[in-house]
Amino acid sequence: MHTKFIFITGGVLSSLGKGLASASIGALLESRGLRVTFQKLDPYINVDPGTMNPFQHGEVFVTEDGAETDLDLGHYERFTHAVMSKKNNFTTGKVYETVIRKERRGDYLGKTIQVIPHITDEIKQRVLALAGEVDIALVEIGGTVGDIEGQPFLEAIRQLKSDLGGRNACYIHLTLVPYMKTSGEVKTKPTQHSVKALREIGIQPDILLCRTEKFLSKEIKAKIALFCNVDADAVITAKDVESIYEVPLLFHQEGLDGKILEVLNIWTGAPRLEKWEEVVHRARNPKHDVTVGMVGKYVSLAESYKSLNEALTHGGIANECRVDIRFIDSEELEQKGPDALLGGLDGILVPGGFGTRGIEGKILAASHARKKEVPFFGICLGMQTAIISIARDLCRLDRANSSEFDPETPYPVIDLMHEQVGVTAKGATMRLGAYPCSLLKDSLASRIYGAEEIRERHRHRYEVNNAFRDVLGRQGLAASGLSPSGDLVEIVEWKGHPWFLGCQFHPEFKSRPLDPHPLFRDFIRAALENRSSRPA
Ligand code: GLN
Repeated sequence: MHTKFIFITGGVLSSLGKGLASASIGALLESRGLRVTFQKLDPYINVDPGTMNPFQHGEVFVTEDGAETDLDLGHYERFTHAVMSKKNNFTTGKVYETVIRKERRGDYLGKTIQVIPHITDEIKQRVLALAGEVDIALVEIGGTVGDIEGQPFLEAIRQLKSDLGGRNACYIHLTLVPYMKTSGEVKTKPTQHSVKALREIGIQPDILLCRTEKFLSKEIKAKIALFCNVDADAVITAKDVESIYEVPLLFHQEGLDGKILEVLNIWTGAPRLEKWEEVVHRARNPKHDVTVGMVGKYVSLAESYKSLNEALTHGGIANECRVDIRFIDSEELEQKGPDALLGGLDGILVPGGFGTRGIEGKILAASHARKKEVPFFGICLGMQTAIISIARDLCRLDRANSSEFDPETPYPVIDLMHEQVGVTAKGATMRLGAYPCSLLKDSLASRIYGAEEIRERHRHRYEVNNAFRDVLGRQGLAASGLSPSGDLVEIVEWKGHPWFLGCQFHPEFKSRPLDPHPLFRDFIRAALENRSSRPA
């Protein structure tokens, strides 16, 4: 079968969950045996999100091949088996960069370069590059219909339907149907306006996903269908749910997958959703509870640690356990001390991060977990802070630090590698993407993974300084994961503790609800064990 395309747009408001909706559609189509891939088209001008503030934009998701991408790619990977790469996310900035480079090279032979056709052609080319290996490519357009920035993207997907020919493209529009408490009714006008704006630019949606608090009645669906010129069975309720993993099941119940197949003229067997049902059942009916403290800087915004929060949830699902994440501000921890803020936690996690602010609080958290035998999981910066704490507390290396936070430190236990020194441009010097890592026999890490070699994704500049490996090792810190050459420390663990592990990579990027990551699964297991061994 040649590749067919689904284009997903959004209207009325941002944050309606277009990424999750796209991912859930992918999951449903996969459950019917179709191969899927995704693409996110971001209308902003940054060339990629690598340099964007996670406060504003949410997490930067890192792909196997080292692209720094939109967090929606994380949803796509979590919900399906699709593996995202550089070509699965691009921005206006990237498109213009390419077109301008071609223009400078003289590729356009003296023509005037215009939005239509040059920018739109470049967009179309990138979308069509998805064709080939999959049955369905789901293309999500960022932003909302009506945004100035989004217009070239919408024009490009408008053209694509006729380029691709009949029944090879399907337009799905996600909109809002608000419920008015005062009058006790749902309102369809915002949806009508949003679809009108789409039709003005030549796109007639095939299917409407209506984000709402309550199931829409037949009458309301018929009204929306009439005003928006779609079939009544093409109006789908996208009701709010407790767990995001319910969305594929909800969409199926509403008949969305059947309708998509009808629009695209595809025959498949019935969907196999048992695994999703099991995940939702486990998420809804936990047998246990744990509280994990997450110590960080951006903690006020859950979006900036999206994959991490999900990976913890997956670890919980694997243990039939609800994971309560308590966000702890590392600067507050610095001021009030660990006893005031870290009491009663079943596990402590220090996630990745950049910059000096709050760093001492994170080091304190690692020391506290080590001394009180609380399961500790340090990820990237979290591993670096754990090593600093051991260097200071146990190796008597006063003022040990990472040269990122204290360039004058006498003991740079975390440092830039030689070839990086002198390179200061931001955004280009990081170790990015998946690297192999060999695990030390009989270590906690090798027991957890049940493997000798693994591949995990990185996003950092600094590394463990090999000059301190011996002195740290003598205090019980084992380097249990190394790059195959042995030059780079990828995992450390501290002996004489129930569960104290740090990794230089970001395992959260590879965790899925149907396949929880082993490190998160085992961290939650250890937290649970810690909880049940403590007096109530
Ligand atoms: N700032 C640290 C480094 O660059 C850690 C980065 C991270 O946690 N992702 O090495």
